[in-house]
Amino acid sequence: MRVVFLGPPGAGKGTQARRLSQLLGVPHISTGEMLRAAITQGTALGQTVRQYVEAGKLVPDVLMQELVRQRLSEPDAANGFVLDGYPRNVQQAQTLDEILGELGTRLDRAVLLDLDPDLLVERLSGRLVCPVCGANYHRRFNPPKHDSVCDRDGATLVQRADDRPGTVRARLEEYTKQMAPVTDYYRQRGLLAVVDASGTIDQVWRGLLRVLGLAEQAENVIEEG
Ligand code: ADP
Ligand code: ADP
Repeated sequence: MRVVFLGPPGAGKGTQARRLSQLLGVPHISTGEMLRAAITQGTALGQTVRQYVEAGKLVPDVLMQELVRQRLSEPDAANGFVLDGYPRNVQQAQTLDEILGELGTRLDRAVLLDLDPDLLVERLSGRLVCPVCGANYHRRFNPPKHDSVCDRDGATLVQRADDRPGTVRARLEEYTKQMAPVTDYYRQRGLLAVVDASGTIDQVWRGLLRVLGLAEQAENVIEEG
């Protein structure tokens, strides 16, 4: 299955996309994580994109296009992927269709995680991430087992630079400006599935499985596991 996740910063895209990729056995491709890794590693791309990411601005489409084309062409994405963070505007949605066309395939579903803006700030301000494995937590809603350290590798969790209040506002504005035409784009093509993202992580997960027609498959995995 080839799925993209849409939704404002903090809606829970990364959290749900990671679960879905595990269930389906396909990679979770997060453009935000790829950019943050490039910045941390100090690559040429990282140096170019740093100013945009830290200001909560979108990285130019031409740079994103190459990044996504290369990643989707890798062998592990041949049988499906969960793409999180791309597309962010209609130009990127068109580019994604072109890339998939070149690869001889197409998108199956675009999932919009729908959430009241008031709840977003609360989710973003409490978000903690593992700088080593990218796992994400929330101070209140999804805390690690031990204070401030990652359950998987014990690394000290950090707050993302762009989750501070000033940048959060810029990101939400950027999202509001660009995103309505993207959801229209997928709605017109019959690919859009809307999931209410205001419940708990497990409630949202169940809604997601329902719209993707995967509820039964997930039950079997739980029974077998
Ligand atoms: P969130 O998880 O809060 O929605 P992301 O991790 O997806 O945010 O993205 C963080 C930042 O990386 C964005 O604010 C933007 O600067 C940059 N970015 C990520 N994906 C894209 C994209 N598709 N186009 C342009 N910029 C992007
Ligand atoms: P996005 O990728 O859309 O920016 P994340 O998946 O990183 O969003 O989630 C943002 C923050 O909210 C994280 O700290 C995450 O642990 C937390 N979170 C995710 N889903 C929920 C939920 N349904 N209820 C409460 N908190 C959530």
